[in-house]
Amino acid sequence: MNREEIEEIISRNHKKINSGEVADYIPELKNMDPTILGVTIASINRDSFTIGDCDQRFTIQSISKVIALIVALKDCGFDKVFSKVGMEASGDPFNSIIKLETLQPNKPFNPMINAGAIAITSLIKGQNGEASFHRIIQLLQTITGSRHIELNEAVYQSEKETGNRNRSLAYFMKSTGILEGDPEEALDLYFKICSINVTCSDLAKIGLWLSNGGQHPHSKEQIIEPEIAKIVLTIMMTSGMYNASGEFAVQVGFPAKSGVSGGIMAVVPGKMGIGVISPPIDKKGNSVIGVHVLEDISKQFQLHQFHV
Ligand code: GLU
Repeated sequence: MNREEIEEIISRNHKKINSGEVADYIPELKNMDPTILGVTIASINRDSFTIGDCDQRFTIQSISKVIALIVALKDCGFDKVFSKVGMEASGDPFNSIIKLETLQPNKPFNPMINAGAIAITSLIKGQNGEASFHRIIQLLQTITGSRHIELNEAVYQSEKETGNRNRSLAYFMKSTGILEGDPEEALDLYFKICSINVTCSDLAKIGLWLSNGGQHPHSKEQIIEPEIAKIVLTIMMTSGMYNASGEFAVQVGFPAKSGVSGGIMAVVPGKMGIGVISPPIDKKGNSVIGVHVLEDISKQFQLHQFHV
């Protein structure tokens, strides 16, 4: 794989695709430039490159659900975390509420949908919300080495003001005993974690770290147990791309997590992390160009995990 080959994949998809819309249900996200396009590949052999708008900051959105799950697993362990959320793909939209009442037990399907992520967020330890948030920022800074990883105050305020669907999920889960503690505190931390600024290069570095079993590829620090990386990658593979996760698994075949700002963090286990940003998303919430670029990368370089 070299830079020219990836550039060719990007320009081919850029020319052919002109669908998708920038998310607007969080008002501040409407202000994103739809023409931003960046791809970073960070390989284990240090053979890394950035193409396009890789320094452009955007909010991490749902990709933060991966980080929240990691920290909750570190803080509370497997049994506690999965007593609150399931491990099954839901097939429903990310912000769906419908099955929370009808399923027995009433736990959310998995930690990658909003209900699951809010439940998980309530497990993150810290003396107060600010301290918990600081732990997440610190972890992201350690993994990426990036100082610009910080709260995007405008997006955070916008989410807080308009996040009534998330509020209803949290209060419903409080009523069924899934969510412990104060729903407003869990929501505040959830909104903040979704509103962290990153670049697609940061996403590639997070992906690379996960591809290396949670060991920092350069400092060699084992930041999380490899077992946690394994669990998280499996959940990403089955549920990371909203209700298109099955199709993505068939067509692309490696774990990834997308967010409504148009970012995707992908992991090729043992090989590389890939970060993509292109804000126009499809009806399910995935970056249209991002998915096509990853599909082409997977096919051209035979990166599907079940390729023989
Ligand atoms: N903060 C967004 C929400 O809760 C995250 C959605 C997403 O990226 O899937 O609606």
